[in-house]
Amino acid sequence: MIEQIIYTFVSSNLKKVRMNTFIMMWNPDISDWKMDGFESSLCHFNDVGVTWAIYDYKKAKIGDRFFMVRCGEGNTGIVMSGTISSKPYKDEDWSGKGREVYYVKLELGTMIHPDNEEIITTEELEEAIPNFDWRGGHSGRLLDKISAGKLELLWKAYINENEFMFEKGFANIDEWTENDAEEIIDYYLRKKHGETCECCGFNYKKVHGRQCKETIDYVRLDTTDYDDAEELEASYHALCPNCQRIINTEEDLERLKTDEATVEICGGMLAEKLIK
Ligand SMILES: [Zn+2]
Repeated sequence: MIEQIIYTFVSSNLKKVRMNTFIMMWNPDISDWKMDGFESSLCHFNDVGVTWAIYDYKKAKIGDRFFMVRCGEGNTGIVMSGTISSKPYKDEDWSGKGREVYYVKLELGTMIHPDNEEIITTEELEEAIPNFDWRGGHSGRLLDKISAGKLELLWKAYINENEFMFEKGFANIDEWTENDAEEIIDYYLRKKHGETCECCGFNYKKVHGRQCKETIDYVRLDTTDYDDAEELEASYHALCPNCQRIINTEEDLERLKTDEATVEICGGMLAEKLIK
């Protein structure tokens, strides 16, 4: 019973996530940006910026994350990711219908040609995150943070599996922009799996109360590899600083988890140190 109550505190005290995630929609049949425009940007990847309509503009800021989904006819799914690089601003309606439309500038992290490379398809998106309309609707809708975490895991596993596509000219990546999304995954893992050390069971808030700002870390152990988002998620482990010092591999973790003496010493040492 007490465990459950403490867990509620932990969940409501999670680290803040700075970045919001927006889903941009692109239907080349309707948009004034056609496939040749996309291809030209792919060619001049490092020199171009893209401007896009954003529906939830009040929640958007510089540094936020975006994914662009091709919708309509043809191969549909994620064709682009990156970060928002301007404040939202009002401008003329691209469709000529005279609506109030806000735009943001996009800094490209990744572009993938939907007809020449495998992409994460609309069907895969619907299966992983069913509470969002991936087939159309307003461009630039905010994705909730849990779904954003799931999408980042899906995306990271996809990029890992398809890393060779970037050598063929139909896809491009800017690693620096892509690496920034770890905090979104971190938030998702904490929310879903909690903040208790997987090895020794230490939990800062259980020992020091809910006000404690310290937390365990979610770390990937270096020997692990993954083929899909599920395996990737399973490769992250919640570890306290003490356990991180003595655990370098999945094997270390498995061994120590079942070694009661080590678990007691490790968890106890840290608790003692912090109480002093
Ligand atoms: Zn620990």
